[in-house]
Amino acid sequence: MLELEKALETILASIPAPQSETIPLADAHRRVTTEKIFAATDLPPFDNSSMDGYAVRSRDVASANAHKSVSLTLAGKIAAGETFRGTLSAGQCIRIFTGSPLPAGADAVVMQEDTQTDPDRPHEIRFLNSAKPWENIRFHGEDVKRGAVIAHAGDILGPAQLGLLSATGAARISAARRPSVALLATGSELKEPAPGVALAPGQIYESNRATLAPLIAGAGSLPKIFPIVPDDADATRTALLHALADCDVLITCGGVSVGEMDFVKSAFEELGGHLQFWKVAIRPGKPFVFGHHREKFLFGLPGNPVSAFVTFLLLVRPALLRLQGAAHVGLPASTGVLAEPFSNPGDRRHFMRAVVDARGKVHTTGAQAAHVLSSLALANGLVDVPPKTTLPLGASVQVLRWEQ
Ligand code: AMP
Ligand code: MG
Repeated sequence: MLELEKALETILASIPAPQSETIPLADAHRRVTTEKIFAATDLPPFDNSSMDGYAVRSRDVASANAHKSVSLTLAGKIAAGETFRGTLSAGQCIRIFTGSPLPAGADAVVMQEDTQTDPDRPHEIRFLNSAKPWENIRFHGEDVKRGAVIAHAGDILGPAQLGLLSATGAARISAARRPSVALLATGSELKEPAPGVALAPGQIYESNRATLAPLIAGAGSLPKIFPIVPDDADATRTALLHALADCDVLITCGGVSVGEMDFVKSAFEELGGHLQFWKVAIRPGKPFVFGHHREKFLFGLPGNPVSAFVTFLLLVRPALLRLQGAAHVGLPASTGVLAEPFSNPGDRRHFMRAVVDARGKVHTTGAQAAHVLSSLALANGLVDVPPKTTLPLGASVQVLRWEQ
């Protein structure tokens, strides 16, 4: 049985370089860049005010204070988006707003709260405070210099990165094409939940596609949900054939254990697929299978809902991200402190469902059997507990997280 790291290494080693496409920035959330992006402009693009107030020559107001104000003549106004023609002369000031360009000749902005005006003398502004040279001014290029690298190949673009790209004028970027992912649930006991659909004896509602589709989308990929596949050799082969024709990646759940009703592996091989490994030394999720069919991939997840969830996060999510060229493919993790012991008497690593609270205390969420969905729904992370080990109360642990 493969160790988890070896399994992941095997999967990632078989992933080819991503294919690029040019996309509008508006569609780029969670997309992976395929080349460096350089700032097309300085940021800010020009020297500007960080306050609503008055642009001045700092030496003109050097002696101003609350007891002895200095008066300057108002020579104009620059709203945000406007510019000022001409140069500020000695004894003058200009009304200015946050983000307005600094007029030539000015070297400081005094904030409005440090000034007074008299309605009878609207062109005279009294300054009750001095300003140091360059005070309240944001310089062109102080945030980002034109030509600087603002994204690297392999970055996953989040909201903040999109803001930075927009601010420097990037309108279209090169991103990895998103893998299309066929999602198939196998099992003759499975029933599609629908209004008014009751379960016949022995049936259960199918639930893994509801869990996996958003996880696939969260990994920047395009899930395509296929109908439930009954436990039948021909039906499994036909379903896999359709999925191979349609998508880059196949994710199945169920039908990969040792039972005589488990058809996924044999059907895939009959279609010319090659299985690279089966079984990983983790709990839950041992019977996970990985294979490829020419340039397409099969991830066969075990059917138990928690096994499917955990193996997706540990083995499939990294593969989907790496198919897009992502540099970092591991799950986000946070450090926490156990609020109770976490015990694994078994002989495989156990990824236990846990919840990290706002103070970083880590609790279990209930029963840990692979079919128990209620304890998964309460969890926001997984704690990796080594075989035959009890992690004691107070132990510091890494909690693996996922996009909620
Ligand atoms: P299998 O891996 O096919 O042996 O299934 C293991 C367990 O998971 C069985 O109890 C199945 O009924 C259940 N199971 C399999 N697939 C699903 C699914 N898509 N949704 C909910 N439960 C499932
Ligand atoms: Mg089954």
